Amino acid sequence: MSKSLVVLSGGQDSTTCLYWALKHFDEVRALSFRYGQRHVKEVEIARQLCEEAGVPWECMDISFISQLSPSCSLTNPSLDIEAEKREGDPYPTTFVPGRNLFFISVAAIYARNHGIYDVITGVGQADFSGYPDCRDGFIKSLNTTLNLAMDEQFRLHTPLMWLDKQQTWALADELGVLDTIRYRTLTCYNGIVGDGCGHCPSCKLRREGLEKYLEQTPSNSPSMGRKTP
Ligand code: ZN
Repeated sequence: MSKSLVVLSGGQDSTTCLYWALKHFDEVRALSFRYGQRHVKEVEIARQLCEEAGVPWECMDISFISQLSPSCSLTNPSLDIEAEKREGDPYPTTFVPGRNLFFISVAAIYARNHGIYDVITGVGQADFSGYPDCRDGFIKSLNTTLNLAMDEQFRLHTPLMWLDKQQTWALADELGVLDTIRYRTLTCYNGIVGDGCGHCPSCKLRREGLEKYLEQTPSNSPSMGRKTP
């Protein structure tokens, strides 16, 4: 029986990965993190989605990573989240250094304890900010490190690695969960569920991808113009 663990934030990408995992593995568990994020309601969203999908879920507290980087706007509510990059800094203020390093490492240790060696994460290179810990090279390197660290054979899966947002919406539709992803997940940097605030960088990227996807989708598609309650 195949078993997998999904690193779940409650956003568009990781939730799409949750349903991808349900299609490809016999048993799926999910793990979420409190890391001092601004919008902790994403954790509650992750819990609810798992409960509805019948997926065992747990949440771990690793909020020390926000203390390590007080100048990150995603974990420091006193900073402007939509500000441009700071001078001399190649990444936006929303970059949380080490986030995926800790998420995936903790997830692998947790997975091993459950006899799971397939770990799924929603990171992708098409991410608009080009965060270094979303890149394929980092994931492959970490996979090797985890194997060496625990003398195991983990497989880190990144179904979205080479997909842009339009293709990620297409995948959600293919998995039959476009409405769930659209109306129930939280990607907005301002903490608004579903279509979000509309103007933060994350909402813009998500909306542009959705619009492009809907434009090229036939009008008889189940996804067109439908609203969920
Ligand atoms: Zn937003």
